Amino acid sequence: MNRTVATAALCALFSVTSAHADDKVLNLYTARHYQTDEALYANFTKATGIKVNRIEGKEDALLERIRSEGENSPADVFITVDASRLAKADEMGVFAPVKSETLTSRIPANLRTDTWFAFSTRARVIVYNKAGIKPALVQNYEDLANPALKGKVCTRSGSHPYNLSLGAAMIEHHGIEKTEAWAKGIVANFAREPKGGDTDQIRAVAAGECGVAIANSYYVARLINSTKPEDQKAMEAVGIVWPNQSNVGTHINVSGGGMLKYAPNKAAAVAFLEYLASDEAQRYFADGNNEWPVVASVKVNNAALERLGAFKADDLPVGKLANSVAEAQKAYDRAGYR
Ligand code: FE
Repeated sequence: MNRTVATAALCALFSVTSAHADDKVLNLYTARHYQTDEALYANFTKATGIKVNRIEGKEDALLERIRSEGENSPADVFITVDASRLAKADEMGVFAPVKSETLTSRIPANLRTDTWFAFSTRARVIVYNKAGIKPALVQNYEDLANPALKGKVCTRSGSHPYNLSLGAAMIEHHGIEKTEAWAKGIVANFAREPKGGDTDQIRAVAAGECGVAIANSYYVARLINSTKPEDQKAMEAVGIVWPNQSNVGTHINVSGGGMLKYAPNKAAAVAFLEYLASDEAQRYFADGNNEWPVVASVKVNNAALERLGAFKADDLPVGKLANSVAEAQKAYDRAGYR
């Protein structure tokens, strides 16, 4: 065999193998966009031979796309952040139930539903200005409505999913009326109208424009891990409280996903979800955004998370939380918390 023939034979062989490999694909629609996620997908491909085609976008746009593609959607798995968004997707009927021994044994029952699964958790913490606020005043979410904090409280928009999920947790614990009164109290305590994201609230607390704010833990961790002098200075000025440690525990939210109803590659979809619950993936998935793994035995090595320390988390089921999101929005609307 001369060299040309040998090359041709090799090429033929290669194209057959690669055509076969093309059958092993997973189409992932994801609203997550962290660099560490790429390593995660590469490792999944290495372990299973299943190639990951990733479509990234804003959660609402991706959901709209899944809905409009309908039965023809190529999407196998949808991943996003926040229980309220996962619940919205679920209500739209885009997910298919998944029965997996791996998923049910590794993910705690309060962090999954029949159709979607949490793969990492984040906590909603209280951030206060150490020079202006006594920490004893801000130990619970309920305290944010205390008139003693008049002119001190800052949050992002009440309509943001992070605050709606917190409101949903308040409804689960206290009922709708008390949650509305609480939201009214927060509005009465505003240092300024809600604007910006959680990081903006932390910076405003550090600058003294606000006395106290609420923020997701990974924004705090990101600033703790930052090497920028202005971030380090900001973090020296603020104190962090794990809210509600003497009662229900700190409100946690999740990053998660599920298999889609019209997934063309259902086996690959389940394999991918199970992979996300593996030790290796849990570390990447959670640590990529300074979050905590849902699988209890998996430990991350993250200086900021270590510095934040351990806390008691509210163990309200994420699925249950999702049920009260719409009521939380109504209660906030009546309270003028926009
Ligand atoms: Fe966020």
